[in-house]
Amino acid sequence: MPTYARADLAFEKGVGPYLFAQDGRRFLDFGSGIAVNTLGHSHPHLVKELTEQVGKLWHTSNLYQMPGQQKLAERLIAHSFADTVFFCNSGAEANEAGIKMLRRYQHVSGHAQKNRILVATNAFHGRTLGTLTAGYSEKYREGFGPMPDGFDRVAFGNLNELRNGITENTGGILLEPIQGEGGICKAPDGYLEGVRKAADEFGLLVMFDEVQTGIGRTGKLFCYEWSDMQPDIVSSAKGLGGGFPIGALLANEKAASAFSPGMHGTTFGGNQLATAAANAVLDEVLKPGFLDHVLEMSGLIRDGLDAIARKHPGFIDEVRGKGLLLGMKTVPNNGDVVAKLRELNLLTVPAGDNVVRLIPPLNITKTHVDEALTAIDACAAALAS
Ligand SMILES: *Cc1c(COP(=O)(O)O)cnc(C)c1O
Repeated sequence: MPTYARADLAFEKGVGPYLFAQDGRRFLDFGSGIAVNTLGHSHPHLVKELTEQVGKLWHTSNLYQMPGQQKLAERLIAHSFADTVFFCNSGAEANEAGIKMLRRYQHVSGHAQKNRILVATNAFHGRTLGTLTAGYSEKYREGFGPMPDGFDRVAFGNLNELRNGITENTGGILLEPIQGEGGICKAPDGYLEGVRKAADEFGLLVMFDEVQTGIGRTGKLFCYEWSDMQPDIVSSAKGLGGGFPIGALLANEKAASAFSPGMHGTTFGGNQLATAAANAVLDEVLKPGFLDHVLEMSGLIRDGLDAIARKHPGFIDEVRGKGLLLGMKTVPNNGDVVAKLRELNLLTVPAGDNVVRLIPPLNITKTHVDEALTAIDACAAALAS
Protein backbone atom coordinates (compact mmCIF):
# COMPACT_ATOMS: atom_id res chain seq x y z
CA MET A 1 0.00 0.00 0.00
CA PRO A 2 1.20 3.53 -0.59
CA THR A 3 2.17 4.16 3.06
CA TYR A 4 5.87 4.89 2.36
CA ALA A 5 7.75 7.03 -0.12
CA ARG A 6 10.54 4.48 -0.32
CA ALA A 7 14.11 5.16 -1.40
CA ASP A 8 15.02 3.39 -4.63
CA LEU A 9 17.30 0.96 -2.86
CA ALA A 10 17.00 -2.71 -1.88
CA PHE A 11 19.42 -4.63 0.28
CA GLU A 12 20.19 -8.30 0.03
CA LYS A 13 22.74 -8.81 2.79
CA GLY A 14 23.94 -7.20 5.99
CA VAL A 15 27.17 -7.76 7.92
CA GLY A 16 27.84 -5.83 11.12
CA PRO A 17 27.03 -2.16 10.45
CA TYR A 18 27.18 -2.63 6.65
CA LEU A 19 24.32 -3.23 4.25
CA PHE A 20 24.92 -4.52 0.72
CA ALA A 21 22.55 -3.41 -2.01
CA GLN A 22 21.45 -5.54 -4.94
CA ASP A 23 23.56 -3.39 -7.26
CA GLY A 24 26.70 -4.22 -5.24
CA ARG A 25 27.02 -0.92 -3.37
CA ARG A 26 28.00 -1.06 0.32
CA PHE A 27 26.34 1.26 2.84
CA LEU A 28 27.31 2.08 6.41
CA ASP A 29 24.10 1.75 8.41
CA PHE A 30 23.76 4.63 10.88
CA GLY A 31 19.97 4.19 10.93
CA SER A 32 19.79 0.59 12.21
CA GLY A 33 16.34 0.09 10.72
CA ILE A 34 15.21 3.01 12.93
CA ALA A 35 17.10 2.16 16.13
CA VAL A 36 16.32 -1.55 15.84
CA ASN A 37 19.49 -3.42 14.82
CA THR A 38 21.16 -3.06 18.22
CA LEU A 39 24.05 -5.35 17.23
CA GLY A 40 24.14 -4.63 13.50
CA HIS A 41 23.32 -7.23 10.88
CA SER A 42 23.84 -11.00 11.07
CA HIS A 43 25.60 -10.85 14.42
CA PRO A 44 27.03 -14.37 14.96
CA HIS A 45 25.54 -14.83 18.43
CA LEU A 46 22.06 -13.72 17.34
CA VAL A 47 22.23 -15.88 14.22
CA LYS A 48 23.27 -18.89 16.30
CA GLU A 49 20.65 -18.47 19.03
CA LEU A 50 17.78 -17.73 16.65
CA THR A 51 18.76 -20.52 14.25
CA GLU A 52 18.85 -23.03 17.11
CA GLN A 53 15.41 -21.88 18.24
CA VAL A 54 14.01 -22.10 14.70
CA GLY A 55 14.84 -25.81 14.72
CA LYS A 56 13.17 -26.38 18.10
CA LEU A 57 9.97 -24.41 18.62
CA TRP A 58 8.46 -21.21 17.19
CA HIS A 59 5.20 -20.59 18.94
CA THR A 60 2.89 -22.12 21.53
CA SER A 61 0.79 -19.07 22.63
CA ASN A 62 0.68 -17.58 26.10
CA LEU A 63 -1.71 -20.30 27.29
CA TYR A 64 1.34 -22.27 28.47
CA GLN A 65 4.49 -21.68 30.49
CA MET A 66 7.25 -20.17 28.37
CA PRO A 67 10.68 -20.57 29.97
CA GLY A 68 12.49 -18.38 27.41
CA GLN A 69 9.99 -15.57 27.93
CA GLN A 70 10.30 -15.95 31.69
CA LYS A 71 14.08 -15.78 31.45
CA LEU A 72 13.87 -12.59 29.39
CA ALA A 73 11.46 -11.03 31.89
CA GLU A 74 13.68 -11.96 34.83
CA ARG A 75 16.69 -10.35 33.16
CA LEU A 76 14.82 -7.12 32.37
CA ILE A 77 13.56 -7.05 35.96
CA ALA A 78 17.04 -7.68 37.42
CA HIS A 79 18.38 -4.70 35.47
CA SER A 80 15.57 -2.18 35.95
CA PHE A 81 12.96 -0.74 38.30
CA ALA A 82 10.41 -3.34 37.16
CA ASP A 83 8.82 -6.23 39.05
CA THR A 84 6.97 -7.74 36.12
CA VAL A 85 6.83 -7.68 32.29
CA PHE A 86 4.23 -8.19 29.54
CA PHE A 87 5.47 -9.04 26.03
CA CYS A 88 3.89 -7.98 22.75
CA ASN A 89 5.07 -7.35 19.19
CA SER A 90 5.68 -3.65 18.72
CA GLY A 91 6.13 -0.28 20.34
CA ALA A 92 2.61 0.95 19.74
CA GLU A 93 1.21 -2.23 21.25
CA ALA A 94 3.40 -1.88 24.33
CA ASN A 95 2.16 1.69 24.71
CA GLU A 96 -1.47 0.62 24.31
CA ALA A 97 -0.97 -1.90 27.11
CA GLY A 98 0.60 0.82 29.24
CA ILE A 99 -2.27 3.23 28.61
CA LYS A 100 -4.73 0.51 29.62
CA MET A 101 -2.68 -0.15 32.75
CA LEU A 102 -2.59 3.54 33.74
CA ARG A 103 -6.36 3.82 33.47
CA ARG A 104 -7.16 0.47 35.02
CA TYR A 105 -4.83 1.16 37.96
CA GLN A 106 -6.89 4.19 38.93
CA HIS A 107 -10.10 2.22 38.36
CA VAL A 108 -9.13 -0.62 40.71
CA SER A 109 -7.77 1.79 43.32
CA GLY A 110 -11.15 3.46 43.62
CA HIS A 111 -10.39 6.53 41.48
CA ALA A 112 -12.33 5.67 38.34
CA GLN A 113 -12.71 9.39 37.55
CA LYS A 114 -8.91 9.70 37.18
CA ASN A 115 -8.97 8.30 33.66
CA ARG A 116 -7.12 11.03 31.78
CA ILE A 117 -3.43 10.94 30.89
CA LEU A 118 -1.05 13.88 30.55
CA VAL A 119 1.04 13.71 27.40
CA ALA A 120 3.58 16.09 25.86
CA THR A 121 3.95 18.38 22.90
CA ASN A 122 6.23 16.95 20.23
CA ALA A 123 5.58 13.37 21.47
CA PHE A 124 5.41 10.24 19.32
CA HIS A 125 3.94 7.01 20.67
CA GLY A 126 2.90 4.97 17.62
CA ARG A 127 0.25 4.66 14.91
CA THR A 128 -2.70 2.93 16.57
CA LEU A 129 -5.70 5.14 17.29
CA GLY A 130 -4.85 5.39 20.99
CA THR A 131 -1.16 6.10 20.54
CA LEU A 132 -1.88 8.57 17.71
CA THR A 133 -4.07 10.47 20.14
CA ALA A 134 -1.31 10.43 22.76
CA GLY A 135 1.16 11.67 20.13
CA TYR A 136 1.49 15.28 19.04
CA SER A 137 1.24 15.25 15.27
CA GLU A 138 -2.10 16.53 13.95
CA LYS A 139 -1.00 15.45 10.50
CA TYR A 140 -0.89 11.77 11.53
CA ARG A 141 -4.46 12.00 12.91
CA GLU A 142 -6.04 13.95 10.07
CA GLY A 143 -9.00 12.13 8.59
CA PHE A 144 -8.78 9.19 10.99
CA GLY A 145 -11.29 10.50 13.55
CA PRO A 146 -13.14 10.09 15.75
CA MET A 147 -10.11 9.61 17.99
CA PRO A 148 -10.25 8.11 21.49
CA ASP A 149 -10.59 10.61 24.31
CA GLY A 150 -8.64 10.90 27.53
CA PHE A 151 -5.39 12.73 26.80
CA ASP A 152 -4.39 16.23 27.89
CA ARG A 153 -1.30 17.87 26.47
CA VAL A 154 1.35 19.99 28.17
CA ALA A 155 4.62 21.47 26.87
CA PHE A 156 7.45 18.94 27.04
CA GLY A 157 10.12 19.91 29.56
CA ASN A 158 8.05 22.52 31.41
CA LEU A 159 7.34 21.46 35.00
CA ASN A 160 5.11 24.40 35.86
CA GLU A 161 2.89 23.64 32.91
CA LEU A 162 2.82 19.96 33.83
CA ARG A 163 1.76 20.71 37.39
CA ASN A 164 -0.88 23.16 36.18
CA GLY A 165 -2.14 20.55 33.71
CA ILE A 166 -3.01 18.07 36.48
CA THR A 167 -6.74 18.00 37.26
CA GLU A 168 -8.94 15.82 39.46
CA ASN A 169 -9.37 13.61 36.38
CA THR A 170 -5.66 13.05 35.74
CA GLY A 171 -4.52 9.49 36.47
CA GLY A 172 -1.14 9.22 34.80
CA ILE A 173 1.67 10.88 32.87
CA LEU A 174 3.09 9.44 29.64
CA LEU A 175 6.40 10.79 28.27
CA GLU A 176 9.46 9.86 26.26
CA PRO A 177 12.52 10.58 28.45
CA ILE A 178 14.22 11.75 25.23
CA GLN A 179 11.83 12.45 22.36
CA GLY A 180 12.95 10.44 19.33
CA GLU A 181 10.75 11.12 16.30
CA GLY A 182 10.22 14.66 17.58
CA GLY A 183 13.89 15.44 16.96
CA ILE A 184 16.00 13.90 19.77
CA CYS A 185 14.78 16.39 22.37
CA LYS A 186 16.03 16.09 25.93
CA ALA A 187 14.12 17.61 28.82
CA PRO A 188 16.00 20.07 31.05
CA ASP A 189 17.91 18.59 34.01
CA GLY A 190 15.63 17.86 36.93
CA TYR A 191 12.50 17.55 34.78
CA LEU A 192 11.99 13.80 35.15
CA GLU A 193 12.56 14.05 38.92
CA GLY A 194 10.00 16.85 39.02
CA VAL A 195 7.53 14.73 37.08
CA ARG A 196 7.94 11.96 39.67
CA LYS A 197 7.43 14.39 42.52
CA ALA A 198 4.26 15.85 41.00
CA ALA A 199 2.93 12.35 40.28
CA ASP A 200 3.50 11.27 43.88
CA GLU A 201 1.84 14.39 45.19
CA PHE A 202 -1.30 13.83 43.12
CA GLY A 203 -1.46 10.01 43.16
CA LEU A 204 -0.54 9.53 39.49
CA LEU A 205 1.46 6.81 37.76
CA VAL A 206 4.44 7.74 35.57
CA MET A 207 4.94 5.86 32.31
CA PHE A 208 7.94 6.33 30.03
CA ASP A 209 7.88 5.39 26.39
CA GLU A 210 11.38 3.94 25.98
CA VAL A 211 10.61 2.27 22.67
CA GLN A 212 13.45 4.23 21.06
CA THR A 213 15.61 5.13 24.08
CA GLY A 214 15.77 1.68 25.71
CA ILE A 215 18.06 -1.36 25.45
CA GLY A 216 21.36 0.46 25.74
CA ARG A 217 20.68 3.11 23.08
CA THR A 218 21.60 6.02 25.39
CA GLY A 219 24.43 4.22 27.20
CA LYS A 220 22.20 2.89 29.99
CA LEU A 221 19.90 -0.12 29.60
CA PHE A 222 17.00 2.35 30.00
CA CYS A 223 17.25 6.09 29.58
CA TYR A 224 15.43 6.91 32.85
CA GLU A 225 18.54 5.58 34.65
CA TRP A 226 20.27 8.87 33.77
CA SER A 227 17.84 10.57 36.14
CA ASP A 228 17.40 10.32 39.87
CA MET A 229 13.92 8.80 39.77
CA GLN A 230 12.07 5.65 38.80
CA PRO A 231 8.96 5.40 36.65
CA ASP A 232 6.08 2.98 37.35
CA ILE A 233 5.72 1.72 33.79
CA VAL A 234 8.12 1.58 30.81
CA SER A 235 7.45 0.46 27.26
CA SER A 236 10.21 -1.07 25.15
CA ALA A 237 10.42 -2.43 21.61
CA LYS A 238 12.70 -1.26 18.76
CA GLY A 239 16.13 -2.44 19.91
CA LEU A 240 14.91 -5.28 22.12
CA GLY A 241 14.89 -8.03 19.49
CA GLY A 242 17.87 -6.75 17.50
CA GLY A 243 15.69 -6.86 14.35
CA PHE A 244 13.13 -9.46 15.42
CA PRO A 245 9.77 -7.84 16.25
CA ILE A 246 9.08 -7.79 19.98
CA GLY A 247 7.69 -5.26 22.41
CA ALA A 248 7.58 -5.23 26.19
CA LEU A 249 5.78 -3.41 28.95
CA LEU A 250 7.69 -3.27 32.22
CA ALA A 251 5.91 -2.28 35.40
CA ASN A 252 6.33 -2.19 39.13
CA GLU A 253 4.10 -4.31 41.36
CA LYS A 254 1.85 -1.38 42.18
CA ALA A 255 1.01 -0.51 38.56
CA ALA A 256 0.74 -4.14 37.49
CA SER A 257 -1.80 -4.83 40.24
CA ALA A 258 -4.23 -3.26 37.77
CA PHE A 259 -4.15 -6.42 35.65
CA SER A 260 -5.46 -9.89 36.46
CA PRO A 261 -5.84 -12.96 34.20
CA GLY A 262 -7.97 -12.16 31.17
CA MET A 263 -7.51 -8.39 31.49
CA HIS A 264 -5.08 -8.07 28.60
CA GLY A 265 -3.60 -10.46 26.08
CA THR A 266 -1.83 -11.19 22.80
CA THR A 267 -1.60 -14.15 20.44
CA PHE A 268 1.97 -13.74 19.26
CA GLY A 269 3.50 -11.59 21.99
CA GLY A 270 6.75 -12.92 23.46
CA ASN A 271 6.77 -16.14 21.49
CA GLN A 272 9.73 -18.51 21.46
CA LEU A 273 11.45 -16.96 18.44
CA ALA A 274 11.04 -13.37 19.61
CA THR A 275 12.30 -14.08 23.11
CA ALA A 276 15.23 -16.16 21.82
CA ALA A 277 16.28 -13.13 19.75
CA ALA A 278 15.82 -10.71 22.65
CA ASN A 279 17.68 -12.95 25.08
CA ALA A 280 20.56 -13.09 22.60
CA VAL A 281 20.55 -9.27 22.37
CA LEU A 282 20.69 -9.01 26.17
CA ASP A 283 23.57 -11.53 26.28
CA GLU A 284 25.63 -8.88 24.49
CA VAL A 285 24.17 -5.63 25.85
CA LEU A 286 24.51 -6.77 29.48
CA LYS A 287 28.17 -7.78 29.05
CA PRO A 288 30.47 -5.71 31.29
CA GLY A 289 31.79 -2.70 29.37
CA PHE A 290 29.19 -2.82 26.57
CA LEU A 291 27.38 0.35 27.66
CA ASP A 292 30.69 2.16 28.32
CA HIS A 293 31.57 1.38 24.73
CA VAL A 294 28.32 3.05 23.60
CA LEU A 295 29.31 6.21 25.45
CA GLU A 296 32.84 6.09 24.10
CA MET A 297 31.61 5.87 20.50
CA SER A 298 29.12 8.64 21.22
CA GLY A 299 31.96 10.88 22.41
CA LEU A 300 33.96 10.20 19.23
CA ILE A 301 30.98 11.07 17.01
CA ARG A 302 30.27 14.26 18.94
CA ASP A 303 33.91 15.38 18.78
CA GLY A 304 33.94 14.70 15.05
CA LEU A 305 30.70 16.60 14.50
CA ASP A 306 32.04 19.55 16.51
CA ALA A 307 35.07 19.66 14.21
CA ILE A 308 32.84 19.49 11.11
CA ALA A 309 30.65 22.27 12.50
CA ARG A 310 33.73 24.51 12.91
CA LYS A 311 35.10 23.63 9.48
CA HIS A 312 31.80 24.14 7.62
CA PRO A 313 29.71 26.87 9.22
CA GLY A 314 26.20 26.77 7.82
CA PHE A 315 25.78 23.00 8.03
CA ILE A 316 25.33 21.82 11.64
CA ASP A 317 23.08 23.92 13.83
CA GLU A 318 23.19 21.74 16.94
CA VAL A 319 24.05 18.20 18.04
CA ARG A 320 21.87 16.67 20.73
CA GLY A 321 20.93 13.41 22.38
CA LYS A 322 22.67 10.86 24.51
CA GLY A 323 24.77 7.79 23.79
CA LEU A 324 24.11 6.54 20.27
CA LEU A 325 20.75 8.30 20.03
CA LEU A 326 22.19 11.40 18.41
CA GLY A 327 20.42 14.13 16.51
CA MET A 328 22.21 16.52 14.19
CA LYS A 329 20.03 19.55 13.56
CA THR A 330 21.17 20.81 10.17
CA VAL A 331 20.98 24.18 8.48
CA PRO A 332 20.09 22.66 5.09
CA ASN A 333 16.83 20.70 4.86
CA ASN A 334 17.28 17.43 6.77
CA GLY A 335 15.72 15.38 3.96
CA ASP A 336 18.33 16.77 1.53
CA VAL A 337 21.08 15.88 4.01
CA VAL A 338 19.79 12.31 4.45
CA ALA A 339 19.60 11.93 0.63
CA LYS A 340 23.12 13.33 0.11
CA LEU A 341 24.54 11.09 2.85
CA ARG A 342 22.89 8.12 1.17
CA GLU A 343 24.64 9.07 -2.08
CA LEU A 344 27.84 9.01 0.00
CA ASN A 345 26.91 5.49 1.20
CA LEU A 346 25.92 6.49 4.73
CA LEU A 347 22.39 5.67 5.91
CA THR A 348 20.72 7.96 8.45
CA VAL A 349 17.12 8.69 9.46
CA PRO A 350 15.35 12.07 9.51
CA ALA A 351 13.37 13.26 12.56
CA GLY A 352 11.29 16.29 13.50
CA ASP A 353 12.76 19.80 13.92
CA ASN A 354 15.01 19.38 10.84
CA VAL A 355 17.11 16.75 12.60
CA VAL A 356 19.16 13.95 11.05
CA ARG A 357 19.32 10.98 13.41
CA LEU A 358 22.61 9.13 13.85
CA ILE A 359 21.51 5.87 15.43
CA PRO A 360 24.10 3.24 14.49
CA PRO A 361 24.35 -0.29 15.87
CA LEU A 362 25.66 -0.06 19.44
CA ASN A 363 28.68 -2.28 18.71
CA ILE A 364 30.27 -0.04 16.05
CA THR A 365 33.98 0.67 16.35
CA LYS A 366 36.17 3.72 15.78
CA THR A 367 36.73 2.66 12.15
CA HIS A 368 33.00 2.94 11.49
CA VAL A 369 32.79 6.27 13.28
CA ASP A 370 35.65 7.65 11.16
CA GLU A 371 34.00 6.40 7.99
CA ALA A 372 30.69 8.05 8.94
CA LEU A 373 32.42 11.33 9.84
CA THR A 374 34.23 11.35 6.48
CA ALA A 375 30.86 11.05 4.71
CA ILE A 376 29.28 13.77 6.87
CA ASP A 377 32.28 16.05 6.20
CA ALA A 378 31.87 15.52 2.43
CA CYS A 379 28.14 16.15 2.75
CA ALA A 380 28.81 19.37 4.67
CA ALA A 381 31.26 20.52 1.99
CA ALA A 382 28.56 19.97 -0.63
CA LEU A 383 25.56 21.42 1.19
CA ALA A 384 26.79 24.05 3.68
CA SER A 385 25.34 27.47 2.98
C1 LIG B 1 8.95 3.82 17.08
C2 LIG B 1 8.29 4.32 18.28
C3 LIG B 1 6.99 3.88 18.65
C4 LIG B 1 6.18 2.96 17.78
O1 LIG B 1 6.74 1.69 17.69
P1 LIG B 1 6.16 0.66 16.60
O2 LIG B 1 6.96 -0.58 16.85
O3 LIG B 1 6.41 1.27 15.25
O4 LIG B 1 4.72 0.50 16.89
C5 LIG B 1 6.46 4.35 19.83
N1 LIG B 1 7.14 5.21 20.61
C6 LIG B 1 8.37 5.65 20.29
C7 LIG B 1 9.08 6.58 21.22
C8 LIG B 1 8.97 5.23 19.12
O5 LIG B 1 10.19 5.69 18.79
